[in-house]
Order: sequence, then C-alpha cells, then structure tokens
Amino acid sequence: MVVKSLILKPSIITLKHLFKKPVTVQYPEERMPPSPRYRGLHQNDLSKCISCGSCARICPNKCIEMTPAGVKEVKRGDKIIKKEVKHPSFFEGRCMFCGLCVEVCPVKSLTMTGRYELAADTREALFYPWDKIGVNKPAYEPVKG
Ligand code: SF4
Ligand code: SF4
Repeated sequence: MVVKSLILKPSIITLKHLFKKPVTVQYPEERMPPSPRYRGLHQNDLSKCISCGSCARICPNKCIEMTPAGVKEVKRGDKIIKKEVKHPSFFEGRCMFCGLCVEVCPVKSLTMTGRYELAADTREALFYPWDKIGVNKPAYEPVKG
C-alpha cells in the first residue's frame, strides 16, 4: 500500500508529464502572446481622434492630459477658421488600466495594446506624450509633443 501511494503513483504522474509539452516559457527570450482583450499601453489613432477630451474627463486617476498637437483649418459658414487640436498624453505610472477612457471614446480612436513591459527608472519616463502613443497621420500639420 505504501509502495503504491508513495512510489508507484507519483512515478506514473512523472512519466505522464515527461512526454507533454512544457507549459512554462523562458521569459524574456520567449514571450506568451497576451489575450486580445489585454489592457496594456494606450494607442491613439490620430486620424480619428476629434480632441473631445472625454477620455481625460472620465479618468479616475487623472492620468490623461490634453496636449496641444497642432492647428487645423475648419469651415464655419463662409469662413475658414484655425482651430487648436489637442490629443491625450498619458501618465502611465498612475494608470490602473481600467479601460474607461477607451470605452468612452466616441470615435473609437483610443485603444489599449498588448504591450505590458512598461517598467522604467523614473516617473518622467512613464509619461507618454500624444505623439508617442499616436498612430496614423493626422489630417493637419502636427507640432512636436
Ligand atoms: S485606463 Fe483607466 S486609469 Fe488608465 S488612463 Fe484610462 S481611464 Fe485612466
Ligand atoms: S482619444 Fe477619443 S475620447 Fe480622447 S480626445 Fe480623442 S476622440 Fe476624444
């Protein structure tokens, strides 16, 4: 009885696992792909963002700052006026990755990527200006963030 429970049973389990594919990965050489719904670093499609500021207003941790990004020409009746464009910049060090900012974005320009390796030596390095998280070309001449 002792031989069965202490030697035979564990040996059978060990033998079974000997021929199975390992479940561990050799990080950082190997990386598991995150789930498609993973909430990592933000990304903003600058060709879609309408500078409404809803993302900044809803953020419970005040991580988002609307930053001047350029000037675009807008038609108002017969006139063409110049309008300042702002895009969100992120203090990722304060972010709890709740995803509220993404949910509230009316044009779905704001998304969250699968990028999770955000560790940095300083708090300043965790600030991601609008052009660092921005993708696609905006429809105006941008200024440097
Ligand atoms: S994910 Fe949540 S905490 Fe992070 S910036 Fe968006 S609203 Fe703020
Ligand atoms: S990212 Fe979305 S919610 Fe934020 S300013 Fe742009 S359009 Fe508005």
